Amino acid sequence: MKSKRTSRSGTAARARTAAGKVRRTTGATDRRRPPTAARTGRASAGPAETPAVRKRRARRIANILFAAYSDARCMLDHRSAWELLVATILAAQCTDERVNMVTPELFARFPTPEAMASADTAEIEALVRSTGFFRSKAKSVQGASAEIARRFGGRCPRTIEELVTLPGVGRKTANVVLGTCFDTPAIIVDTHVRRVVSERLALADSDDPDEIERQLQPLLAPSDWTRFSHALTFHGRRCCHARKPACPGCPVARLCPWPQKTAAPATA
Ligand code: SF4
Repeated sequence: MKSKRTSRSGTAARARTAAGKVRRTTGATDRRRPPTAARTGRASAGPAETPAVRKRRARRIANILFAAYSDARCMLDHRSAWELLVATILAAQCTDERVNMVTPELFARFPTPEAMASADTAEIEALVRSTGFFRSKAKSVQGASAEIARRFGGRCPRTIEELVTLPGVGRKTANVVLGTCFDTPAIIVDTHVRRVVSERLALADSDDPDEIERQLQPLLAPSDWTRFSHALTFHGRRCCHARKPACPGCPVARLCPWPQKTAAPATA
């Protein structure tokens, strides 16, 4: 496979001109070819998968993952929607475990949105420092808390339209809060969900979290959206790892079109 690609690109790179001179080309011929799964690393279910077939496959994947990860849930510790909002802001580019180590002291020191809003920013920064990007996270946590105190009477808003107006809050954070605290159907596209559904299972064909959310919505009943998101996150953490997925033990391997599935180790 590798030698074939080398040969094709070598031919393209050394095309002869009419004068007989060897001319290096830009590889434009290659760029015109539509991307394939093998070249992009993203799986494709192929043209034969109609929307109805994809829906059925998604349903089967969801049922298997629900059974495999019956303990799937939001892993960020919290006692209120506001605390979960803050924890989710802190969880960007950071593990849930690390955030859970930081938030008890943060919420003990600043137990309400009002207290967080009037805090010394440097003190918030010091408390959240170990989660990384601590200056921008402290700014977002304080800004969102100030808006909740000022515009929403200290209570976390319950709609996505209101939530995304808060500083540092995008659709992912808003959906975490809605799906976990307010029982509102929400598809949460974190880094694991993006990888598993877009690159591996081919239930979506975009890298953009908002577009992935839009493509997943019609595949399942809204009542399953949040549960499916958590199950996908667990699957990404425990099995469909970014570097070397554990395909031989994967419960949805038969429904996965990823062309680079890992093989079971050879037995002696
Ligand atoms: S078969 Fe492999 S790549 Fe496909 S979902 Fe399972 S672990 Fe991920």
